[in-house]
Amino acid sequence: MQKVFAEGSVVEAQRIAEFLLQHGIDARVLSSGVGPQGGSVAARPALSEVWVDDVDAERGRVLVESREEHITTDVVVKLSCPYCTAENPSSFEACWSCSRAL
Ligand SMILES: [Zn+2]
Repeated sequence: MQKVFAEGSVVEAQRIAEFLLQHGIDARVLSSGVGPQGGSVAARPALSEVWVDDVDAERGRVLVESREEHITTDVVVKLSCPYCTAENPSSFEACWSCSRAL
């Protein structure tokens, strides 16, 4: 398991997990700051992390990054991958879906 998203609200983490699930990645939302003793960090705000299996980690990170770009700006220029037709932000040098050079 690897962490692809950290330090977000529970709602945000769940949205990302759902987004990853839609792309076939088995994502899990875990609470951060929960120590082995539990309860000792109750004063901290509740933050969540999203974890995926090792095999999906690389793709998961790219998906999370591309998702954040879509949220922060509506003017991201998109490129359609010539091989698999997946949409990629123009800043990507390789397709997030099939890893071939754009
Ligand atoms: Zn592609």
